[in-house]
Amino acid sequence: MAGNTLKYTTLLGTALLFFACTKKDSLTAVAAEPAGQTTAYEGVDEALWPYFESFEKEARLRGLEVDLREAAITGVIEALPDDGVAGQCSYSSHQPNHVTIDLEFWSKSGTLFREFVVFHELGHCRLARDHREAVNADGTCASLMRSGLEDCRDNYNRVTRSSYLDELFDPAFFNTIHPGIE
Ligand SMILES: [Zn+2]
Repeated sequence: MAGNTLKYTTLLGTALLFFACTKKDSLTAVAAEPAGQTTAYEGVDEALWPYFESFEKEARLRGLEVDLREAAITGVIEALPDDGVAGQCSYSSHQPNHVTIDLEFWSKSGTLFREFVVFHELGHCRLARDHREAVNADGTCASLMRSGLEDCRDNYNRVTRSSYLDELFDPAFFNTIHPGIE
């Protein structure tokens, strides 16, 4: 079993600041589907279902068919042992890919920041993306798939969301050695 983790230590200060002023907007940006419309994802904690559904929807908007049920990706929210690790994608040849989101991170974070971490892990687990550390001219991270170990500044918000998702679902960045999507 191998793993990919997302560090959030350096990013938490920024995110708290961000959610303090745009919480309402970020909620409406993500919760576009009416409540109760989401159907079950087997082996996935119910709190994650809207994010899984949103991931499929955003992929479809960009011409990609992503079916997380068919891929049998499982996911839970539970305490991750390492300090500052917000999420993890575990994969092995013997079982479906598995997303774990840290419970402490989840309870402290707003909708958009939760989406950031769930989408990052599904980027590993479903799109077979590796980390991408590219930095924009203004110092912001070019990708949701940044490791968090480099110096770029996260800038995922209501305004930048769409372009970050364009980058996330760009097949040019998918790992062809370990293909996740045809
Ligand atoms: Zn990662």
